[in-house]
Amino acid sequence: MRQEQRLLQGLARSVAEELREASAPEGVMAEVFSRGAVAALADSGLWAVACPPPLGGMGGDPAALVLVAYELARVSASLALSFVAHSSVCRALDAFASEALAGRYLPALAAGAVGAFAVHEPDSGVMSAAITTRVENSGEDLVVHGSKFFVTNGSEAEVILALVRSEENLFSVLAIDESAPGLVRSHLDRRMGLNGVASCEIVFAECVVPRNQVVGQLGQGMEVLKRALIEYAFFGAAAVSLGLAEACFEAALRHARERTIQGTPIGEQQAVRLMIGEMDGLVAASRALLWGAVTRARESPPQTALLASQSKRFVSEAAVRVADRAIQVCGGHGYCQELPLERRYRDARGLTLHYKTTEILSLDVAGMLLSQGGTAPWPT
Ligand SMILES: Cc1cc2nc3c(=O)[nH]c(=O)nc-3n(C[C@H](O)[C@H](O)[C@H](O)COP(=O)(O)OP(=O)(O)OC[C@H]3O[C@@H](n4cnc5c(N)ncnc54)[C@H](O)[C@@H]3O)c2cc1C
Repeated sequence: MRQEQRLLQGLARSVAEELREASAPEGVMAEVFSRGAVAALADSGLWAVACPPPLGGMGGDPAALVLVAYELARVSASLALSFVAHSSVCRALDAFASEALAGRYLPALAAGAVGAFAVHEPDSGVMSAAITTRVENSGEDLVVHGSKFFVTNGSEAEVILALVRSEENLFSVLAIDESAPGLVRSHLDRRMGLNGVASCEIVFAECVVPRNQVVGQLGQGMEVLKRALIEYAFFGAAAVSLGLAEACFEAALRHARERTIQGTPIGEQQAVRLMIGEMDGLVAASRALLWGAVTRARESPPQTALLASQSKRFVSEAAVRVADRAIQVCGGHGYCQELPLERRYRDARGLTLHYKTTEILSLDVAGMLLSQGGTAPWPT
């Protein structure tokens, strides 16, 4: 790990720990979005990891995203997921937006404004190519009709990047301002977990968007999704799961040491040690996979989508298992709200569903491996 990466991780850890202390005992963004937490990240520069340096950011690569998301997730999966979604917006604008569009949004997004990326729709499910939200020409402007579901940061965002389908049956990404006429945010979703991310439905009711708000070119939407979500945010999503899993593992280890029955710590019991061994294996494998993947992606850019998909798929499933085993080690105490494990378990479950589900990631990974003729050499 490079020196600047160590410094970035250290900064993220100290900001996350300060937020944890300030919000005890409820927890950071445990149930509701927190503008205060975002302000703390913006003050430290972390909210701008994915923004380019000339516009107030750090120009962070996937490794930087991973380090920050991991540290935030050790404290709050909702805060970390909100950060990853916001960073994907910055990444898309940095890579594709015109100078004027990037200049309009990126300095504000670096300074604490919130971004959301809206792809999923009621009838599209996990298949982004099945969206029906349409964009039409209307004189100088574009007009958008449709709706998006489950949008992380949706009810708070100052700018929403939305995937739309144009008349030519091509996909495009538009930057839609919070004040755009016809933009309606519906009720907040109440979910099993991750309730701090301000997830909501967004309706575009003849929503008027100036033509110069297209991110990249009309028709470039799937390319924007690939670069900003698959090849960037997927790594961040895996890091959220890893940070969450480690927090669960540490809580279980602490409990196994401290909880005594008839004077004997439960960590002395072989059955408990078997669970600790399993958790350790999953966490160690997740750490190695994710860091190896971001490192290899830098050296071999064409492999990035495969590496990011493999990471998100494996680490998110591992985190569910680790959270489950951690509750088992803690017994009834783990199932109660006195420990944050039950919330972490609920949060972990959602991380196997968002962006692409585990099953779709398996199909994508299999497709990529089959078309390239096999796995990469090891060790690399
Ligand atoms: C925590 C969280 C955060 C989210 N944040 C965002 C966000 O910021 N922006 C956004 O746009 N969306 C967001 N989403 C939505 C998310 O992208 C979708 O939930 C996800 O793509 C799955 O879509 P679905 O829920 O409609 O499931 P469905 O598509 O209905 O899938 C249901 C099941 O069927 C399987 N399935 C569906 N189609 C196929 C197929 N063709 N082949 C094989 N299996 C299939 C799936 O794998 C799954 O097991 C978020 C969701 C969650 C849970």
